[in-house]
Amino acid sequence: MPASQTLQRLEKWLLRKIGKAIADYNMIADGDTVLVCVSGGKDSQTLLHLLRLLQQRAPVRFRLIAMNLDQKQPGFPAHVLPAWFEKSGVEFRIVEADTYSVVKEKIPEGKTTCSLCSRLRRGIIYRTAKELGANKIALGHHRDDMVHTLFLNLLFGGKLKAMPPKLITDDGAHLVIRPLAYCAENDIAKYARGMKFPIIPCNLCGSQNNLQRQKIRAMMQDWDNRFPGRTEAVFTALQNVVPSHLADNTLFDFRALKLEGRIGDEGDTLFDPPELPSVGSFPLPVRFER
Ligand code: SF4
Repeated sequence: MPASQTLQRLEKWLLRKIGKAIADYNMIADGDTVLVCVSGGKDSQTLLHLLRLLQQRAPVRFRLIAMNLDQKQPGFPAHVLPAWFEKSGVEFRIVEADTYSVVKEKIPEGKTTCSLCSRLRRGIIYRTAKELGANKIALGHHRDDMVHTLFLNLLFGGKLKAMPPKLITDDGAHLVIRPLAYCAENDIAKYARGMKFPIIPCNLCGSQNNLQRQKIRAMMQDWDNRFPGRTEAVFTALQNVVPSHLADNTLFDFRALKLEGRIGDEGDTLFDPPELPSVGSFPLPVRFER
């Protein structure tokens, strides 16, 4: 149990957020086997711990298997997670694959290695899930990751696309879930510190972490410092998409839009405060000069 009352409150808060995300997106069902990917960072450690707490309380029965991929980065403390998993009594699988050497060989010095590394890792995770009979794969991405990805795609990729709370894997065989979708990174960091999880540093590969992502992170941190709640507001917006007020013909058929005497749900009043009376309630005289 967490030591202090503050930590207990934080745990309750995070559990509530995870429970809501799981319910809202129907992430876990009775009989599921969930492979929880644990890198050793604060996010995945928190995810695993809280999912285990939920497992004890949930009305549905599901199995959790923690998985760590030892990518053979120099200095990777391979003993830390197995010892931690054993101590916690969680079912686990350690997978060893030297993706580090492959990435170093294929990517020229000085270039970011994360894309290839992530692709290799994804393939190994899918294979492991298949081997273990897991139908769900849980990842430790949180609300801030999802918002940062939105801006990455928006500013560097020309796409209005974020990171979904749930998706089908590339091979169509599994569902990937992100139960921390409603959790703020700061809360997770505080919780992981308070719980004294054995954190493995994420810079062992020597790669400069994705520079564009770092820029977005700095931008959001700056915004949040100056206007608290901005990340949360952007995340809320991700759940309130209005295709008729974007410009994608595949989501909303603008070509077919014509006057049919029907006014759209949002009309052109999207930015008006809800308490404003309707236009029709101001019978203002209007004069046309010509
Ligand atoms: S930081 Fe290193 S381990 Fe992480 S994705 Fe990039 S290359 Fe892979």
